[in-house]
Amino acid sequence: MIDVVIAGAGPNGLMLACELALAGARPLVVERRTEPTTEQRANGLVGQVVRMLDRRGLYERLTTPGATPEPTPRFVFGAFPLDLHDLPDNPLHTLMVPQRRIQRMLAERAAELGVEIRHGHEVTGLAQDGKSVTVELRGRAPVEAAFLVGADGGHSTVRKLAGIGFPGVTADDSVSRAGHVSVPADMVGAEGSLTVPGFGVVPPFHHLRTAHGLITWGPFPDGAPLITTVEWGRPAEGEASLDDLRASASRVLGVDVPLGPPAGPGPHLMRRLSGGNTRIAARYRAGRVFLLGDAAHVHSAIGGPGLNMGLQDAVNLGWKLAAALRGHAPEGLLDTYEPERAPVARRVAMHTQAQSLLTRPGGDVTALRELFGELLVQPATRQHLADLLSGADITYDMGPATGPLVGRWAPDLPGLRALTRTGRPLLLDPTGTLDTGAYASQVDTVTVPELDTALLLRPDCYVAWQGTTDDGLYDALGTWFKAA
Ligand SMILES: Cc1cc2nc3c(=O)[nH]c(=O)nc-3n(C[C@H](O)[C@H](O)[C@H](O)COP(=O)(O)OP(=O)(O)OC[C@H]3O[C@@H](n4cnc5c(N)ncnc54)[C@H](O)[C@@H]3O)c2cc1C
Repeated sequence: MIDVVIAGAGPNGLMLACELALAGARPLVVERRTEPTTEQRANGLVGQVVRMLDRRGLYERLTTPGATPEPTPRFVFGAFPLDLHDLPDNPLHTLMVPQRRIQRMLAERAAELGVEIRHGHEVTGLAQDGKSVTVELRGRAPVEAAFLVGADGGHSTVRKLAGIGFPGVTADDSVSRAGHVSVPADMVGAEGSLTVPGFGVVPPFHHLRTAHGLITWGPFPDGAPLITTVEWGRPAEGEASLDDLRASASRVLGVDVPLGPPAGPGPHLMRRLSGGNTRIAARYRAGRVFLLGDAAHVHSAIGGPGLNMGLQDAVNLGWKLAAALRGHAPEGLLDTYEPERAPVARRVAMHTQAQSLLTRPGGDVTALRELFGELLVQPATRQHLADLLSGADITYDMGPATGPLVGRWAPDLPGLRALTRTGRPLLLDPTGTLDTGAYASQVDTVTVPELDTALLLRPDCYVAWQGTTDDGLYDALGTWFKAA
């Protein structure tokens, strides 16, 4: 029997496959498409996930060998510039890299770890009992697995087959357009901004709100520049095309915008989306079936929070499923996945809805923005938003363990990057005297003299316990791991 069938070789399914394989489980990824997608979605990663990839040794695979993430001094929130350079504790990291490259990297990593990915395999049915899940595949023999994970995107077949609802809202009066373009060279300034005759300057990588809509100018360094527009209350007509995008940009800015076809090799994007959904699965688990990524939550792409959430769903679920498969899971471990991750989805739904609202035209929105702009002057407000966007404000319930770091994602500590690559639980002990006893085969103990407190880290880098003596350590070990 297969350990875990993962439906969907998108970024989140592939990340889960890597995490499971790291933890010693044997996943099988089944993907409906006959070959890896070249579709362009995310332009980058935003938030804690950038450092999480670094802690698995994957950041440098998307950048350069030896590179480490640095916080970004500026970002955007609801079409406001978000200046973060003066924050004492800036948690917001970004990595501009197209989604298809992230997927390719994760597929390569999964292959290195021995994961099999079967393309042209579409999940069409499932049946489960107390011991296994039988997964039906279109035109192929069914496969039997201990668990099935639906990582099959917003229209998730697995979610529907498992009878899990997808409540939320559909906002149907917006039309967003995005396309690779060219512009006359004299319109682009040295710092990358676009000067549009008759309108003025459109800054790079910034959502610009006008009286008629929203526009973003993205002069990406490796490839053609990308123009994105959003308009409300004006249904789209005809096909998505350069003419359609040019007309939209001209309406938003109120002047002609001379957009031409993109130069250089493709693939080039020309996309139009009407409306949008904000929905969260009613449950993340139905027996032996789990959901993650877009299968569990969809929301506006504003600010790019999707993969920060989905990839960390995978990091949360991977070690728990692997522990269950190996008989190392304490009672209830798998039931901690939903209470830890669904609140994160609710936070993302909240701030993407708020940001979308702040970008709409209208006098009432302008008034709201005026007030919001006054609040943004306060460093505490900007810190709050940076924590929200990065996920640094997430705290998990760690039971009776207490301490300022308990329940939080471990801060960057000396040598931690090297220690977390294996995905093993860690006891970081400054004294060299703590003993994990019957948990020693599951938890690696490392002496870190630079620390002023001992820390127990789960494989997803969340702090399960801290202390200067072993008080409460065994309770914490017993909460997350099983004694040999
Ligand atoms: C326009 C746009 C821009 C975005 N920008 C950003 C951004 O800048 N930053 C960011 O973090 N996020 C962004 N996102 C969100 C991000 O793209 C998604 O969150 C991400 O793709 C979700 O990954 P996933 O693996 O959960 O699902 P998907 O990427 O949807 O992958 C699901 C996979 O499952 C397969 N599948 C479906 N049904 C079946 C089946 N029955 N059997 C087998 N396989 C199946 C599909 O073929 C697909 O390969 C953006 C999204 C959009 C639409």
